[in-house]
Amino acid sequence: TKQKPERFIDEEGKRVDGRRPDEIRPIHIESGVLNRADGSCYIELGDNKIMTAVYGPREVHPRHLAEPDRAIVRYKYNMASFSVSERKRPGPGRRDREISKVSKEALESAIFLEKYPNSVIDVFVEIIESAAGTRATSLTAASVACADAGIPMRDLIASCASGKVDDTIVLDVNEVEDNYGQADLPIAIMPKTEEITLLQMDGNLTRNEFEKAIKLAKKGCHQLYEKQKQALKNKYGGN
Ligand code: ADP
Repeated sequence: TKQKPERFIDEEGKRVDGRRPDEIRPIHIESGVLNRADGSCYIELGDNKIMTAVYGPREVHPRHLAEPDRAIVRYKYNMASFSVSERKRPGPGRRDREISKVSKEALESAIFLEKYPNSVIDVFVEIIESAAGTRATSLTAASVACADAGIPMRDLIASCASGKVDDTIVLDVNEVEDNYGQADLPIAIMPKTEEITLLQMDGNLTRNEFEKAIKLAKKGCHQLYEKQKQALKNKYGGN
């Protein structure tokens, strides 16, 4: 496992993985990669590799969960046991449940749920390789999978984190920065309006740093948004 570096930013201003503070990791997004699912999306962000599948809107089972005036969303975030350096215990733990809850709420704010009463939209997330930033990256992919399923939405959800290392605000924290850094701030937005649909914070930031971190994370979200739209266009033959 990786150790705490002596410094996170070298004399040339580069991070441990060679990025500048305001650089996101390489992004790769593909939509419509699964045949059985109604919608799907595969995403890579740096070393993160994540598959998402969407089923629905479809009838809710068990029936008592149905809402007569809107669809419900179920969001299941799962880390494969081989996705992390130390084997992850299978099954949902506290962290998985928390991520599923906040992600479901973030996604719900983008979907026109009232169009599908008594229905459910099931979102499945499988983390195949994990390298920090998985909750945000999953959400970015899940919203593409929803769009791929033809679900009417206000906008896509783009999500990424910023953070603080060596008293510097950085975009898209990697694993070492996440483990040993000073702060981690994942956000999700609907890029058209920049409305925030998820915001979590780990660590400490001053008010000034917080504002800078939000601004930087939004910039990352807009970069993801371009790739999300491109992935959907590629699938449907546009350019
Ligand atoms: P996120 O992946 O959204 O950044 P965390 O900040 O909780 O979520 O986790 C950061 C990283 O720590 C994960 O991406 C993963 O690489 C690692 N990690 C999380 N949970 C485990 C676990 N149970 N075992 C090993 N590594 C883990």
